[in-house]
Amino acid sequence: NARLRFAPSPTGFLHLGGLRTALFNHLLARKWKGKWILRIEDTDQTRLVPGAVDSLRSTLEWAGLDYDEGVGAGGSKGPYVQSERVDLYRHHAQYLLGHDHAYECFCSPSELQEIRVQLVKQGHRHAYDGRCRHLTDEDRTRRKQAGHKYVVRVKDPINVGQIPADLIYGDVQFPPLAAADDFVLLKSDGWPTYHLASVVDDHAMEISHVLRGEEWLPSVPKHHALYRAFGWTPPGFAHLPLLVNADGTKLSKRTGDVRVEHYRDKGYEPEALLNFLALMGWDHHSALEELAQRQQQIASASGTSATRADSHSYYDLFTPGQLIAAFSIEHINHRKAAVNMSKLDFINKLTLRRKAGRLGDDGVLVEKGKEGLEAQERAEMVTRLQGMLREQKVLKGNALVEDLDYVEKVFDAELARTVLLKDMSTSSIFFFLDPDFSAVETSEMLKTVNPVLYGNMVEHIVRELEKRLSEGTGVLTEDFGWAAINSVLRENQVQARMELLTPMRHALTGRRKGPSVPAVMAVLGARRTLDRLEAGLV
Ligand code: GLU
Repeated sequence: NARLRFAPSPTGFLHLGGLRTALFNHLLARKWKGKWILRIEDTDQTRLVPGAVDSLRSTLEWAGLDYDEGVGAGGSKGPYVQSERVDLYRHHAQYLLGHDHAYECFCSPSELQEIRVQLVKQGHRHAYDGRCRHLTDEDRTRRKQAGHKYVVRVKDPINVGQIPADLIYGDVQFPPLAAADDFVLLKSDGWPTYHLASVVDDHAMEISHVLRGEEWLPSVPKHHALYRAFGWTPPGFAHLPLLVNADGTKLSKRTGDVRVEHYRDKGYEPEALLNFLALMGWDHHSALEELAQRQQQIASASGTSATRADSHSYYDLFTPGQLIAAFSIEHINHRKAAVNMSKLDFINKLTLRRKAGRLGDDGVLVEKGKEGLEAQERAEMVTRLQGMLREQKVLKGNALVEDLDYVEKVFDAELARTVLLKDMSTSSIFFFLDPDFSAVETSEMLKTVNPVLYGNMVEHIVRELEKRLSEGTGVLTEDFGWAAINSVLRENQVQARMELLTPMRHALTGRRKGPSVPAVMAVLGARRTLDRLEAGLV
């Protein structure tokens, strides 16, 4: 039974790389029908940041990465915060001391410094020469009684044996541990080092797979040395390639925002951010191909025809459920993953559309979500848009904002050109407020009007709409809008559509850009369209 863990240190905000590690743990746990755990690694008390655990949890919650055990989720292997497990680590250090796998080291910082300098001079790589291994029992007792501080070091960790292949990196040639590279297990204040705490916990929490960032790869021999000293079976190790900037440099605050909260505050959809991060280091093309092949085999074995494996309408776009279905550890590669932020915008844009309904192969909405999850996601976005519109000062008490059907029409009209839902709440204001013709920009724009043509247009639409109303077909559709525009152009023998579309856009929206003019007309409806077009007559 697979058990994975995400083990962040509460030293600040969760970074994109951390969220990706959490995501991959989550995906594999769900894929393998196992469990994953949130463990807080706070044994380095000097680096703690107050509030970091809460912010971490709320970020994971926002992202929808639910875990099965750990802080806030309970579980039988707790406590899940390392600072509450210190006795356990001391107990295990004691065990190693008792079995001649560890020893107490009384060297002071200045002695250690001297030793290091000597070792470097002699061309050694390691930091300590193991001199305290040879202290006698009397020596140790005497020093302890004299109040000397000491750390506990592992003894001779060289006998690691064959290190099994990393599940992502494969066979790694680790530089051999030096015979005397006796790393510290317990610090002089009695707190464990990362190595001891991590190994003890992974064992105690019955972790089957350790999936973590590449920066921990060099620790693997040390961890194996500890598993061996304890006589435990090590878990599988899998290290994720580093996220880097396009130029290959390490992703850092200086080069762009790496905090997940930044993307939440900017208004990205959590599904889009996860989708984006899933493509960092995971070869989804091969994964999908393999999935399709497998389905094909199953289909031909059962004599049915194969349907598209994953019902993907767009190749790079995954719902959280599709990610679980398609994800596989075999397709995680160890090339550094370059983060290209414009791709996040692209994915967010498509995610909005995907949540609004079904997309065609070109990523365009072909059918509105009417049932199940799609309908829910759609309704949730429309309600969110309404909430954001309500927050706009200029829309206070606006009756149209309270008309959810109208807001949904606005949503559909704006969808194709929206990157963030948040943007929609400002770009769509004109649907709720008549354009201000006294504003300089608008009157400037209206100066370009060809009054005859424009007058004919308004007249035509009035006539047509009245006819339709009397026939009981008065709803202003997009098709009607196009037909009206085309016939006015024809009647007036005007070739350039823009001559008509531009002033109409100005009168209807007071803006230079937006959805197509007929789409705007259809949302506004006959009455508001006529009012605005007439107001634009000079
Ligand atoms: N606490 C470590 C970190 O913050 C996790 C290392 C591990 O997963 O073993 O990255």
